[in-house]
Amino acid sequence: MTNQRKVIIDALKSSKAHPSADMVYDYVRARIPNVSLGTVYRNLESMYQSSMIVKIETPGGQKRFDFNTEPHPHFHCEKCGKIEDVPFELHAPVPDEASEWMKRRVITSSTLNYRGLCEECSHII
Ligand SMILES: [Zn+2]
Ligand SMILES: [Zn+2]
Repeated sequence: MTNQRKVIIDALKSSKAHPSADMVYDYVRARIPNVSLGTVYRNLESMYQSSMIVKIETPGGQKRFDFNTEPHPHFHCEKCGKIEDVPFELHAPVPDEASEWMKRRVITSSTLNYRGLCEECSHII
């Protein structure tokens, strides 16, 4: 593993904000001044291809990255753009019909995301 790759992983691990490639680049550049944005992009892309990290698509925004590859819901703040992990299950108990429905299918992944205003932003409006 290259040192660049190690620092990129540090950037993803140390951030709770689900950083964009640009945010990862800022972190890496502070430690390896001659790194290029292209190198950071290529590393993120190859880590994504080998399922080491998760790519989060944001509507009209930049792609964001998550080192936590366990399926978990996200909360997108529409004002400041922050992406937070939702630390618990918010959905209602599954009705009986749903468990019947699910018995006949195999679910391999699920994405449930929330949008709105984060704690800080909801105070300003
Ligand atoms: Zn916010
Ligand atoms: Zn996450």
